Amino acid sequence: MPRIHNLGFPRIGARRELKRALEGYWAGRLDADELQRRGAELRRRHWRQQAAAGVDPVPVGDFSWYDHVLDVTAMLGVIPERFAGNPLDLDTRFHMARGRAAGRPDVAPCPMTKWFDTNYHYIVPELEAASRFRADPAPLVAELAEARAEGHTPKPVLVGPLTWLRLARPIDGSDPLAHADALAEAYARLLQGLGEAGADWVQLDEPALATDLPQDWWAAAERIYDALRTGPVRVLLAVYFGDAGPWQPRLESLPVAGLHLDGVRATETLATALERWDGERVLSAGVIDGRNVWRSDLDALAGRLGPAARRLGDALWLAPSCPLLHVPVDLEGETRLPEGLRPRLAFAVQKLDELGELARRLDAAELPASAGGATATTRAEDVVFPPERLRRRRPYPERAPRQREHLRLPRVPTTTIGSLPQTAEIRRTRRDWRAGRLDDAAYETRMREEIGQAIAEQEALGLDVLVHGEAERNDMVEYFGERLEGIATTAGGWVQSYGSRCVKPPIVHGAISRPGPITVPWFRHAQSLTERPVKGMLTGPVTILQWSFVRTDQPRAETARQLAEALRAEVAELEAAGARIIQIDEPALREGLPLRAAERPDYLRWAVDAFRLASAGVDDSTQIHTHMCYSEFGDILDAITELDADVITIEAARSRMALLDAFAEHGYPNEIGPGIYDIHSPRVPEQQEMLALLEAAARVFPLERLWANPDCGLKTRSWAEIRPALANLVAAARTLRARH
Ligand code: GLN
Ligand code: ZN
Repeated sequence: MPRIHNLGFPRIGARRELKRALEGYWAGRLDADELQRRGAELRRRHWRQQAAAGVDPVPVGDFSWYDHVLDVTAMLGVIPERFAGNPLDLDTRFHMARGRAAGRPDVAPCPMTKWFDTNYHYIVPELEAASRFRADPAPLVAELAEARAEGHTPKPVLVGPLTWLRLARPIDGSDPLAHADALAEAYARLLQGLGEAGADWVQLDEPALATDLPQDWWAAAERIYDALRTGPVRVLLAVYFGDAGPWQPRLESLPVAGLHLDGVRATETLATALERWDGERVLSAGVIDGRNVWRSDLDALAGRLGPAARRLGDALWLAPSCPLLHVPVDLEGETRLPEGLRPRLAFAVQKLDELGELARRLDAAELPASAGGATATTRAEDVVFPPERLRRRRPYPERAPRQREHLRLPRVPTTTIGSLPQTAEIRRTRRDWRAGRLDDAAYETRMREEIGQAIAEQEALGLDVLVHGEAERNDMVEYFGERLEGIATTAGGWVQSYGSRCVKPPIVHGAISRPGPITVPWFRHAQSLTERPVKGMLTGPVTILQWSFVRTDQPRAETARQLAEALRAEVAELEAAGARIIQIDEPALREGLPLRAAERPDYLRWAVDAFRLASAGVDDSTQIHTHMCYSEFGDILDAITELDADVITIEAARSRMALLDAFAEHGYPNEIGPGIYDIHSPRVPEQQEMLALLEAAARVFPLERLWANPDCGLKTRSWAEIRPALANLVAAARTLRARH
């Protein structure tokens, strides 16, 4: 019978126990011992759940207090000078992740960014030419002992050296590859320590090998893995989120005792490997989708795996395609899903049960010839976005005067990105309503009061274009998921986004349609309270798609098209209700980019079409805004231009307008609002500081096409912070106007 194992289990806990423990500790409500106790409890529970499903060995090291990349960075001892402290102290790691250092509250955290094409964020290692590696696996060794004491066979899991190095940021511009040999040596010592602590297998995660990796990086991979060949442990090299592309033969000949391949993203590659695997080394077949929530077609899988299972015996391991970090923990407790959906779903616990069932079928040689799981039969190219509905009536230069006429705004108008502080009171109101302690009418009254206050505050601040404040939204994607047909939301389907933060991605399970208005009544109320334009505020089709679990039986492009149609109807109704400006946020457009460059043009084509389908139906005098908040635009500026939004607001404060330069150099033709207020920090920027940023912007962009706004939404800030900050922002814009 093939062995089943798991690359990693969600660490957050089915009821987000880790989140509660962390936030309690950070707030000083829990002491370090209690925090440790709760972490140990979660690990124990998760090992038991996995063992019960037949998983053996169980992963160790997939649990993390904040981030598994940061854990490896700590074991390697690579900590920026500003944090001086024992790298293995938990508090040092928290400082690196969240900013501040022992005794100093104002130390900048390490940067954080998205883990490959997922919505998980890791803490970026900071590397310099002078960096030296230590290698102390003590935290992992301790967990190894815990697992053994519980009667499990543990398999330590670490981010592999190549991936760690690839993700590290050389802060002095030095060449990371110069560290390759020293890093290999450090990993060898880590493995040595794990071997001495009784580990037989160690899993090294190398998703970087599934990206476009330059030739010299492959050479480094070969040197590094050669250096790890002789240690006391057997290395299982795990490649997921794709395959090695043209370098697949090179990957398969790396000198490791076992190789894991992603049989969901790279089905053909796994099939080929299964056919020619000689059985001297372990092949781990990642056949259960670790990135989505659908049940697998076990008949089809048993059919695909049967011959190899018979031939390879226990040299064949079965696993999820990637660590289960990206799916919710357990379906148990999801009692309010739409009729018939639950039997189609598998969260982490159910996925492991599927593995067990698959292994049993293979063992019993129940090998039906059937195939044809829920795979798409149409291709992205076949999805039709009707061209005549993707174009505004006139081009931007002809629309702009009409909008100016309609809006009558000063030059460099001031606005915000949409959300205003989600106060404890707003959250309590929503909780009460959901729990039935507050009826619909009372809830609506409360939200309308919030909107009233938001409008009054903004008028008093002197902002030119107002927002209703998004008080009614728990989350910018889930809110829409709850109001569209064909999309389900879960009660507790939490997935870690970063640290203690989790999201509950909706599940797109059927044809999407819009049963009724989503945001229109809130907008109408807000606009009724003021003469100034209030922005209609929507989440874009690509972002809803990207932050949901989606169907696999149709191309993503088709799901995007259906979402865009629904949003287009909402846009039309907002316009009819008097919205002169409608903002369609697409903060996830860039992260949807496929990992392989070759697949990007196709994605960008349908992503742009989806945005245009959602937005292009309005009159030329209606202004379409979009908002994106990330720091790398370079490679998608063409696509962003093609969105043809009248105004785009971007994050720019932290990069001190470097981003804006990129737009200017590209000749971005429409209006732009570079963020001049970094909302990620509680700091209140001075007027002078924002004015300087605006002046910098005015040097590369004509004033007629410039806006003044913060970097992103203000929902995580307090009124005490944003009142003075926005007052300074308005003052800065006025000074700029007076000067030019
Ligand atoms: N309109 C949203 C807000 O202001 C945009 C959030 C985002 O860009 N992630 O919160
Ligand atoms: Zn944003």
